[in-house]
Amino acid sequence: MPKIGEFLERDLLEVYFGIGEIVHTFKVAIVGAGPAGYFTALALQNAQTEVLTFAIDMIERLPTPWGLVRSGVAPDHPKIKTVSKVFEKIAKEPNFRLFANVELGKDVSLRDLRDQYDAVVLSTGASKGRKLDIPGEELANSLSAADFVPWYNAHPDYVQTEVDLSSDTAVVIGAGNVAMDVARILAIEPAELDPTDVAEHALVKLKESNIRRVIICGRRGPEHAAFTAPELRDLLKLENTDVYIDEKQINDACIRIEQAGEIEKDLKNNLEAMKLIAEHSKKRVNRKLEIKFLAAPVEIKGNKKVEEVVFEINKVQEGKVIPTKQTFSIKTGLVITAIGYDSVDYSGITIENGRIKNIAGHIEHNIYTTGWAKRGPTGVIGTNKRDSSDVVDLIIKNLKKPKASEGITALLKSGFEVIDQIAWEKINASEVISGEIAGKPRVKEVDWKRLISLGRS
Ligand code: NAP
Repeated sequence: MPKIGEFLERDLLEVYFGIGEIVHTFKVAIVGAGPAGYFTALALQNAQTEVLTFAIDMIERLPTPWGLVRSGVAPDHPKIKTVSKVFEKIAKEPNFRLFANVELGKDVSLRDLRDQYDAVVLSTGASKGRKLDIPGEELANSLSAADFVPWYNAHPDYVQTEVDLSSDTAVVIGAGNVAMDVARILAIEPAELDPTDVAEHALVKLKESNIRRVIICGRRGPEHAAFTAPELRDLLKLENTDVYIDEKQINDACIRIEQAGEIEKDLKNNLEAMKLIAEHSKKRVNRKLEIKFLAAPVEIKGNKKVEEVVFEINKVQEGKVIPTKQTFSIKTGLVITAIGYDSVDYSGITIENGRIKNIAGHIEHNIYTTGWAKRGPTGVIGTNKRDSSDVVDLIIKNLKKPKASEGITALLKSGFEVIDQIAWEKINASEVISGEIAGKPRVKEVDWKRLISLGRS
């Protein structure tokens, strides 16, 4: 008789599991309640048959689920957050349980999960901001987007992030969508954030902010930027902020690209969007957002606190980006680095190139990974759907006999305060009701203890 693990095709699995009409229920623990975790749960739910089912336990460190949809997506981009409706549908399925306020490595160990579950999936993301490794990076008000973004998104761990917005200019380093989010939040008229779920403490600070000029600096050319065209085009809709890109830099990039041959569709769209921005007539308002290319940061200067950033000018020659040894500097009191993220380290896993060491999502034994923890910080929320589905196929392929074990309930101490789906729905309802009164989608609670007591109410 063939072994279960030899099958990948679902119909074959059904044939095998169907022998004797026994329903096999495999217990799967998903660690991390962000998009990758939910899409893993969805893929498991979609893979169920009459004879193969899954009991899914989602474990989350915070008292709230939704990961980056709650603490990463920019508050002025509410449409992206509507994916939370999909998450709530997944959570309503009878085979899904939420165990929030439970920390891997503290409240449960990876080894214990491995023993209690048929499969463990680490969807723990990448929350550590990468470093520039240049002199002055440690100065006060030189921040990572990994600290700044969760600060304005009301993540309980980042309420205390020290952000000083007293200078007139801010520099954002990196030419990706996170840099763009950060720059927009700093550059727009703060009243535009009134009808959003931006953190209350951040809105107060942004309203007092002196920043009127925000400069995004990319180290390579416009043709190498990691921005995406819809996000670039959105900049043209800003009502109270003028957006500048040097038209010559875009035209030079277009010439280089044309000389190199066929242009990929995404790149063409990006360059067209940048050209539109460069040509767009300005409103002559006092809030400015600029995008500069070919500017590689080499030093942050200041007396204890950021005062200036020095850049080396790069040029593109024969398709290569090379330094020119010419420099320029920007006087600024705030630098935010948005140059990508690494996964955090915890006992039992190895981090390699910033992500959990894995082969196609398999770590070792019955432990797997999905999302940014698996592939690094790339792709939009939807990218996780296909990615998680591929890993679930692999999990099914490797399944053996279901374990006779209790799962997480055997691991948590009695009286442990878990935020389950019902408790989370209470927190959610409370935030949404507060939001209705304030004319916002929600008012996020930022205090960990108060979040838990809302869940208890
Ligand atoms: P990203 O897209 O990888 O962009 C990182 C940027 O940092 C690149 O321009 C990179 O330049 C630059 N960089 C890296 N090391 C640098 C250094 N030492 N000095 C100067 N610049 C450096 O990363 P991200 O912006 O963090 O975004 C992560 C993912 O989330 C992306 O897939 C993004 O599209 C997605 N996201 C999407 C949205 C949205 O859809 N609205 C919003 C936010 C994020 P090089 O190319 O030269 O390395």
